[in-house]
Amino acid sequence: MKVEGRCHCGEITYEAVVDPATVSICHCSDCQMLTGTVYRAGVPAPADTFVLKTGRPKVYVKTAESGVKRAHSFCPNCGTPVHSAAVSDPQRYSLRVGCLRQRAELLPVKQQWCDSALRWAMDLTGIPQVRRQ
Ligand SMILES: [Zn+2]
Ligand SMILES: [Zn+2]
Repeated sequence: MKVEGRCHCGEITYEAVVDPATVSICHCSDCQMLTGTVYRAGVPAPADTFVLKTGRPKVYVKTAESGVKRAHSFCPNCGTPVHSAAVSDPQRYSLRVGCLRQRAELLPVKQQWCDSALRWAMDLTGIPQVRRQ
């Protein structure tokens, strides 16, 4: 599936091709902190399908507990995450589902790092719901 992504301010725009059957959620504490929320939804795109149309992301290299380094790209103006990838010669980019125009069609097929998930984030159905603000 071809997807189009952008950051919140619109400075960064991109396109890529993803397999909708590979969308996943990550509950690790790094993803909680790097998103500023309680989990991340991502989908990998082969590097040769990713086209940066406008803007120039800033890169933050994260070192995981395991010692593995990963390059996290984000908009230097609005801070929206764009993708993460291997530090050198990336074969694929992990796109952030919330930034993709087609996000409603990208349903997660897996959740990982569930040991560090916030229990309440695993089931929102019991929380009172308001249609808008
Ligand atoms: Zn931006
Ligand atoms: Zn994670």
